[in-house]
Amino acid sequence: MAGFSEAFRTERGRIDFLSDIREPLRPVSVILDEVEKGGTLGVEDAASLFAWARDPSHRAIIQVAAQRVRDRLAPKAVEFIIPVYLTSFCQNECLYCGYRQSNPLAERIRLSLEDFGKQLDLILSWGHRQIELVLSDDPDFSPAELARYVEATRQKLDALGGGVVALCSPVYEREDYARLRAAGLDWVAEWQETYHQPHFERWHFPGSQKRQFEFRLDIWDRAIAAGISKVALGALLGLYDWRYDALAVIEHGNYLRRTYGLEPHALGIPRLKPARGVLASQKPSRFTVSDEDFRLIVSVYHLAFPRSRLFFNTRESYEFNLSLVAAGDLFTVDCETLPGGYLRRNLPGQFSTHDYPPRREVVNTFAQRGLSCQYLAEETESPRAEAAVPQAMALDLKQWAEEHTVIRERLNDWQAILSWLAIQSGAPAERQAASAALRVILHFFKTFTITHCRSEETALFPALDQDAASAPRLQGFRRDHERLGIDLDRFDRQMSSYALSGDPGVLLTLGDRIIRELREHLDAEEELARNWSSARLADSPQVGQSAGG
Ligand code: SF4
Repeated sequence: MAGFSEAFRTERGRIDFLSDIREPLRPVSVILDEVEKGGTLGVEDAASLFAWARDPSHRAIIQVAAQRVRDRLAPKAVEFIIPVYLTSFCQNECLYCGYRQSNPLAERIRLSLEDFGKQLDLILSWGHRQIELVLSDDPDFSPAELARYVEATRQKLDALGGGVVALCSPVYEREDYARLRAAGLDWVAEWQETYHQPHFERWHFPGSQKRQFEFRLDIWDRAIAAGISKVALGALLGLYDWRYDALAVIEHGNYLRRTYGLEPHALGIPRLKPARGVLASQKPSRFTVSDEDFRLIVSVYHLAFPRSRLFFNTRESYEFNLSLVAAGDLFTVDCETLPGGYLRRNLPGQFSTHDYPPRREVVNTFAQRGLSCQYLAEETESPRAEAAVPQAMALDLKQWAEEHTVIRERLNDWQAILSWLAIQSGAPAERQAASAALRVILHFFKTFTITHCRSEETALFPALDQDAASAPRLQGFRRDHERLGIDLDRFDRQMSSYALSGDPGVLLTLGDRIIRELREHLDAEEELARNWSSARLADSPQVGQSAGG
């Protein structure tokens, strides 16, 4: 079916031009006046606002006007929404995402319907009534399977007097959206990531499912054709020039108005944040969106779509979000991005999030601003949900120590290969032999060692976290794990360079550093575990062979 992709083919050149203008096309007062009188903000005017905003005094005028428009047109309420991840398995390789297939640090969990139900009971007992089901592109989680989770959510909400089911998922066909709608889905949130095709293709590996730029551009048309009239759209800010992406989002929203007579139900404003084991997300780039620019994007979106909800999420700090959120927006206070995360809390997931105050404190803060909070009912006692919270997992210390021994042995092997490599001539046969040996080593560290790190984090560290002194050390161990994941990726890439050039220089330096740091890390962990074990033995001669429990 024809969709936005067709319209966008002729529009993107214009957006490219407009994203770069320095001189506004019309006076700021005229543009704001028209919008305040109910006019539509087209991409030319939005681009002019961005150009005006290069001057801070005009930026402030735009922000005040946006606030005024929202106060007048949007309901005096903020909607709460809570994301619930169903799976973290993914067949894609989006370079910015903690769940990309090759990230060895990602914990892979697919929630069974039963476990999902337990988690949902807990969330509902907290009062949440707007549930966003989120899933990565897991080939073993079909839309038909997903429909069962939608239906279960709908039934539980209806039993409590009603609520809303939203979805952020891989892209589906029209029939799939129809099936999900029939199961009880209310609205669909999808982000185009970036609307700039060359950069979209850079961020998404050749051959990956997600790399179908135009197929993705038409998700919203397919969902609407399936009868889902509430759709949210947006871009992941930081993947490309924010002016281009913000203008494309506005163009897309105006297309929905023109074509279907629909306002976007919501607009996503996710900003690229560090994710565990994701090199591309760790450092600022030329596309990093500053706080000031982020504020401006929020204001211009508010002006462009005064009745749509901006989706404030815990990628940003609570204080920052509070300073931006307006009447009629969506707000997240509880956010775990690991499937089952609400039963385990504070584990690394798809991306890093901020801690927020308790829900009721947030509700009171909004009340002081004259805003009510929707989709948050009174909290209820939930003995069943409490019972579902797993006890601290047990880890066998003996097995843990044996695994350290195995890792140390393989570190010795790695060191030996590097030493051998340092004295070779770099002839093709030698290169091939070294590469083959290193691949075996690398595979071991990416699988066995990373699995070991993950089980330490879930089973050992909670037990070792006994006093104020141990907390920063455990935090340091977690950072070491993350650095190891990234370093293994780096080493992998350097192996490819070595295979081509025959120069092992970088490989040797990097390998030596990884080996040295990993040995130091193992020493430090063992020391902390020894101290903990001695303290436990002193307290009780019966204890000492298992952590947690
Ligand atoms: S962004 Fe989505 S599709 Fe891409 S790797 Fe992450 S979870 Fe998978």
